[in-house]
Amino acid sequence: MVSIHGISQTPGMRTPALPLLGVLLAGCVQTPPRHRPLVEPEPERPAPIAIPEWQSIGSSVEGRPIRYRRIGRGYRQVLWIGGIHGDEIEGMVATSELPTAFLRQPGLPNRVTLHQVEDMNPDGRAAQRRTNLRGVDLNRDFPASNRTSGSGLTQPESRVIHELIQAIEPDLVVVAHSWRDRYFINYDGPARPLARLFARKSGFPVVPSESIAATPGSLGSWCGWDRHVPTLTLEWRRGTLPAQAWEQTREAILAVIRGNEEPAGKRP
Ligand SMILES: [Zn+2]
Repeated sequence: MVSIHGISQTPGMRTPALPLLGVLLAGCVQTPPRHRPLVEPEPERPAPIAIPEWQSIGSSVEGRPIRYRRIGRGYRQVLWIGGIHGDEIEGMVATSELPTAFLRQPGLPNRVTLHQVEDMNPDGRAAQRRTNLRGVDLNRDFPASNRTSGSGLTQPESRVIHELIQAIEPDLVVVAHSWRDRYFINYDGPARPLARLFARKSGFPVVPSESIAATPGSLGSWCGWDRHVPTLTLEWRRGTLPAQAWEQTREAILAVIRGNEEPAGKRP
């Protein structure tokens, strides 16, 4: 057995060029168990759900793992990032509960592959601060065309997420944040229909990113506008209990992951 970023692979398995791809190809998909039809139906009860373990796809400045897992096997690729700013923890329960809710939605795991990053700033989370250990706002460290200086990707955390997005080519990225005194759904790139769907299901108002402030080098600027990947930034009100935050937005999150209310073939 060999190990790539702590992930074991069987000898003879094709080794991808990018270490991250080793994780993506390492068979971490788990499908819900299929049951044969029973002659005598059993009473209704939830099927057991097996959630894949987190796997490290890279490390923070201080050496903490950046953890990733993949659930489902559908054609539509959705990336959930549970946090960028270390002092915004409202999405914690959403991140932990989403796989079970996702797998319990009829047909969803066959339609969608859900990629989850637990938190792309584990050092900031540990220190309860916005930036990474070097004081860099990771949400300004992407190689977006609206940068005012430098080329970005100065930090290991942003390089890991940059590589991941290039590897999986998501159809949607959802990122968990919180805002000081209000809640809303913010979007970048061709995500307006999905932002509106989220708003209908949650009551969160839609706020286009350009109406807030310039965000040079943000994940949304690079991924949404430069790469044309619909990118939703979920802003819970700061201080909302994480379990309450999940309840507020559970149906909306599942709806945008499914994405079936998106007008077919239309781009905003
Ligand atoms: Zn934030």
